[in-house]
Amino acid sequence: MIRRWRLPISSRVIVVGVVSTIAALLVTFAIAGTIGSSRNAQDQRVENTAIIKLLAHSVSGGSILGIAEYRNLLIAENQRATVMFHGQTTIFGDQLTGMHNLFTLSVPISGGTIILASPVDKSFDPPFEIVLITLGVLLIVLGSVFLANRSASRQTRRRVDDAVTAAERVSLGDFTARIGSGGPEPLVRLGAAFDAMATRLESIDREQREFLADLAHEIATPIQALSGFSQAVIDGTIPTHSAQAAIESQTARLSELLDELTQLRSLDAPGESHFSEVDLEALTRYLYVEFKPIATAAGIDMQFRSESVTLLTEQKLVETVLRNFITNALRYTPRGKQIVIRCTIVHHQAVLSVSDTGLGIAAEHQQRIFDRFYRTTEARDRISGGTGLGLTIARRAAHSLGGHIELESEPGQGSDFRLVLPFT
Ligand code: ADP
Repeated sequence: MIRRWRLPISSRVIVVGVVSTIAALLVTFAIAGTIGSSRNAQDQRVENTAIIKLLAHSVSGGSILGIAEYRNLLIAENQRATVMFHGQTTIFGDQLTGMHNLFTLSVPISGGTIILASPVDKSFDPPFEIVLITLGVLLIVLGSVFLANRSASRQTRRRVDDAVTAAERVSLGDFTARIGSGGPEPLVRLGAAFDAMATRLESIDREQREFLADLAHEIATPIQALSGFSQAVIDGTIPTHSAQAAIESQTARLSELLDELTQLRSLDAPGESHFSEVDLEALTRYLYVEFKPIATAAGIDMQFRSESVTLLTEQKLVETVLRNFITNALRYTPRGKQIVIRCTIVHHQAVLSVSDTGLGIAAEHQQRIFDRFYRTTEARDRISGGTGLGLTIARRAAHSLGGHIELESEPGQGSDFRLVLPFT
């Protein structure tokens, strides 16, 4: 990328200050010059009027000889008096031929006319006070520009230092570092973007720490149980066949956990989508047929109701969500109760629901059960409790499908988990 070379901001401010100062100086001098020359013209007029009055007075005796007396006194250099008296024209003073800007005053006298001409002084002569005031103002302006520039560049440097320190802290893993707002506009935007990034990193970091802590806790229970039973078998405290069931159940728990962690990881990793036309009625019927015997064995009445629904979606993920719903319904529905699997179209969306008349979930837990490893106390107390990852996986899968999960539940009455998928 070609970068245009640019002056640093402070130099640009000074250049702008100096250029505008010079421009202001030129304008002021032009105005002062105009005032000066108009004042010159005014003075000239007054002077010429006085002279011509004297000249007129000097010829008032009926002879122009009087003018000769005054001539050296009155007619200055670059002045010319033309006296037309009784048909005779006499010129005193300099010949001003070829000169521009002549100021001419003509006065009739008895017996003729006196014309006095002199060039108007258009010289650049601004009044001294104006020059002084202008220079004073310019000095103040330049001083202010310089001071403002110095304070702005100091502030900028401080903000840049803050940004560097914050970036260094983040690079060392301290995600609480923030730049904050303040300073010139580009730095304010940089600060906002950096702080948003740090906040995000902080929350990811917190989530990861919590996840690791939860995971360690989840793994600890089955491992402790396994090591306890193994030791007891080795010590001969309990016979091998008694420990077998416990060891198998703990191993199954660990393998379920591993399975769900693998699912979570694959949902988190960006990968290819495998969308295809899926017959949702066939899919839900298939799951119903698979789980019906398990429900029957648990004394639960499992029902299936479906309309014909076909959707462009990813079959594997839809199945993942439904399996979680059905497994949970079986887990948290007591003997003698009912589970219904439905596949319908509501408001132009495919709705796949698993409702049960089981334990139900209190309102305060309804959002949190989708968090990793979150389980209600009732669920923890149950021997058949899962890992607490099922609904987290289900929610992520639903999002990957462009859909969402809805839940209606009441403690003691049961729950209705719905996967809602739009027809695109
Ligand atoms: P688990 O593997 O513990 O079932 P999930 O993430 O699938 O983990 O579910 C989280 C929690 O949500 C469960 O521990 C349970 O407390 C609650 N839960 C989920 N499904 C139901 C349900 N159908 N009836 C009652 N509680 C449920």
